[in-house]
Amino acid sequence: MDSRFNETVPSLRYIDEKSDDEYAFVKALRMTGGDGANSYSANSRVQRRGILMAKPVLVKNTEEMMMFLNFPNYIKVAELGCSSGQNAFLAIFEIINTINVLCQQSNQNPPEIDCCLNDLPENDFNTTFKFVPSFNKELMITNQASCFVYGVPGSFYSRLFSRNSLHLIHSSYALHWLSKVPEKLENDNVFITNTSSQSAYKAYLNQFQRDFTMCLRLRSEEIVSNGRMVLTFLGRNTLNNDPLYRDCCHVYSLLSESLHDLVFEGLVSKSKLDAFNMPFYDPNEQELKEVIRNEGSFEINDLKTHGFDLGHSNEEGHRNYEVAGYNEAKTIRAVTESMLVAHFGEDIIDILFDKYARHVTQHSSCTNKTSVTLVVALTKK
Ligand code: SAH
Repeated sequence: MDSRFNETVPSLRYIDEKSDDEYAFVKALRMTGGDGANSYSANSRVQRRGILMAKPVLVKNTEEMMMFLNFPNYIKVAELGCSSGQNAFLAIFEIINTINVLCQQSNQNPPEIDCCLNDLPENDFNTTFKFVPSFNKELMITNQASCFVYGVPGSFYSRLFSRNSLHLIHSSYALHWLSKVPEKLENDNVFITNTSSQSAYKAYLNQFQRDFTMCLRLRSEEIVSNGRMVLTFLGRNTLNNDPLYRDCCHVYSLLSESLHDLVFEGLVSKSKLDAFNMPFYDPNEQELKEVIRNEGSFEINDLKTHGFDLGHSNEEGHRNYEVAGYNEAKTIRAVTESMLVAHFGEDIIDILFDKYARHVTQHSSCTNKTSVTLVVALTKK
């Protein structure tokens, strides 16, 4: 090997490791793979509901995109943060169906469609790709346009697609994940809570602004003019003007409480807990609009707010708080387990989510929720 290469590598590595080591668990960000009892695939009904909630906006924007672009004979669609399991195909199916119906109604030939499923390289794409045959079968049965599925491993905070190649981008419950934990963050909890400082809020907001701006800028290079994006976030409502306010059963307030229990019981050290912060931010409508306007490549067509309720017990038609707590804990476990294991180790996980389930049950009467689902549809100018 070239000796100059040997000389430069150690110092480069040192710089990288120094910045990465502080929050090494961020690198472990991924939903739990496989299709076992604790997998994301088996515990993502809430996210599925979110995708269905956004359907009217998705259908409208798909139709408008097709008409504005004068019925192209080829369409490239991207699903950002597809994760593992069948949720990855829900929006894509709606997009293809919408295009097909519109083409029939308008007496146009249906286009060939490329569908690119993106997620971080560590995502369990295998579990997702196992659904491709049944997805193709469903398309055949319902006589839809031809569609080809691809995997695109990489961060949506980097370039993923060639220039001017995409017509439609969809993403659900993924863009609230930040590229990193904000720098110089001082915070006693795993995320912003009522007891956090203003500076913690500002650090989180700043990181969100930087990340989302970057994502918009990169996608604006990849999407054709008049192409559309439909993005769903886990956000927060503007009912309460205090940017620190999160209701007592916010998913990460409950995670904080559960981890504090383990500190109290001597299973986790306080310093270990203090060093763990979620690379996550729940913007409100105003914050979202501001980033989009300031970045300037996209126009807002639709912005809708829906309630966000993990409410598993409602889903089953009865109010069994214990079952609800258990199910909610499993949903959050499938999302956070890999980061928690990377930071705290495997041994605490079962006991942690036992506590979590109990906290959910204790907070079951909380009605004034901060969390909402935000759906925004954008057109490339
Ligand atoms: N859209 C799916 C998955 C949501 S979970 C659904 O609604 O069910 C969020 C997904 O975003 C995870 O799979 C996570 O790995 C992915 N993700 C987070 N940050 C990402 C990034 N920077 N680039 C690509 N994917 C990312």
